[in-house]
Amino acid sequence: MTRTALIIGGGIAGPAAAMALQKAGIDPVIYEAHPTGADGVGVFLTLASNGIDALRVLDADKPAVAAGFPTPGITLRSGTGKRLGESRTGQSLPDGTTSHTIKRADLYRVLHEEASSRGVRVEHGKRLVEAEETGDGVRAVFADGSEAVGDVLIGCDGARSTVRRIIDSAAPAPTYARLLTTGGYARGVRVDTDPGSYEMIFGRRAFFGYAMAPDGEVWWFANVPRRDEPARGEVEAISADEWRRRLLQLYAEDAGPAVPLIQATPETMPMSPIHTIPHLPVWHNGRMVVIGDAAHVPSPTSGQGASLSIEDAVVLGMCLRDLPSPQAAFARFEAARRPRVERIIKWAARINNSKAAGPVGRVVRDAMLPMILSMTADSKALKQAYDYHIDWDRPQWTA
Ligand SMILES: Cc1cc2nc3c(=O)[nH]c(=O)nc-3n(C[C@H](O)[C@H](O)[C@H](O)COP(=O)(O)OP(=O)(O)OC[C@H]3O[C@@H](n4cnc5c(N)ncnc54)[C@H](O)[C@@H]3O)c2cc1C
Repeated sequence: MTRTALIIGGGIAGPAAAMALQKAGIDPVIYEAHPTGADGVGVFLTLASNGIDALRVLDADKPAVAAGFPTPGITLRSGTGKRLGESRTGQSLPDGTTSHTIKRADLYRVLHEEASSRGVRVEHGKRLVEAEETGDGVRAVFADGSEAVGDVLIGCDGARSTVRRIIDSAAPAPTYARLLTTGGYARGVRVDTDPGSYEMIFGRRAFFGYAMAPDGEVWWFANVPRRDEPARGEVEAISADEWRRRLLQLYAEDAGPAVPLIQATPETMPMSPIHTIPHLPVWHNGRMVVIGDAAHVPSPTSGQGASLSIEDAVVLGMCLRDLPSPQAAFARFEAARRPRVERIIKWAARINNSKAAGPVGRVVRDAMLPMILSMTADSKALKQAYDYHIDWDRPQWTA
């Protein structure tokens, strides 16, 4: 039986896995590379209804929901302001809870607080550099020279995972999705949308999305197409003022509030390329496994990265609880999770392509989107993404 677990990475999957393993009777310790918790404001994300439902299994949903605000719907528009259609960001859970928008740093914070309040130990400043099996366990080595041992090692170390490469040295690198992304928070700009709904604009040159928080602050993001992958450091080398100037130019001809929102934002988030990992061939090896972004990176377009990471954590806890060996548990985990996450990643990649459409593709997209949306509003793909409930009491070998 598995008794102790080394959890590498204390982002979203890490504390969720720690709580799930603890619920399964396993003693976890989280090792996080950063010396402190997530600082600053940073990006915001959709915690979809399926992610909230998975947190509910751990009785950890309430603080996450309280830190965000409900955003169940999306209105899609073209750059001319034409309404292309509506979509949803999730289902309503039985008590009426819908998907929420939350700052990633706040989600990190509440999950950490929740895990710590349950006695989970978190060691900061521990960057994993190596790991190996020792026969009946696994040994982790950190950049500061310290070591830790446990029965299993769970890689929750995100899109640039070290554990992924330790498990399989031939693991593919993340793929560039032909989009750059940034965002920010603006006050004092009047937008004609109610709190609770995203407006997303397929602009002439770039994609823009925003939602208004209950206190009137507008949270926005921009997706800027760029065909070739930027060289390392290239995007970061461009100053924030220069990016602001470029963004203002990109959205200058579009209807909607992109320009005043960008102007009113004190500090835009650093621009960064979007990467995905649609298919990682090897998820586990012996006593080590990757979950969350370390195993699969959907594009932010899916609105599912965090939610899938939390689902992974809960299902992994059940597998380790129910299967006699780590190897059997990890195989069962992969069988339960791979088809779902890869289906969602494929679906999001299709939407990404329409964000990066050229002039001809754009005309086709704007003409077709209303029809596609009306067909998909209740589609199997959406239902499969959001209508996912984990029954903690159901033994995994019969799942
Ligand atoms: C711009 C943007 C927008 C997004 N929007 C959404 C959205 O709307 N909805 C959504 O669900 N998801 C969204 N995502 C994705 C979401 O943030 C991720 O899917 C989610 O954070 C994955 O959680 P994770 O715990 O697997 O990885 P992370 O949150 O990246 O956490 C990994 C942790 O591991 C630590 N770490 C890394 N290497 C090591 C090491 N060697 N040793 C120890 N610790 C290490 C890191 O410091 C970090 O704390 C977005 C992402 C981005 C970038």
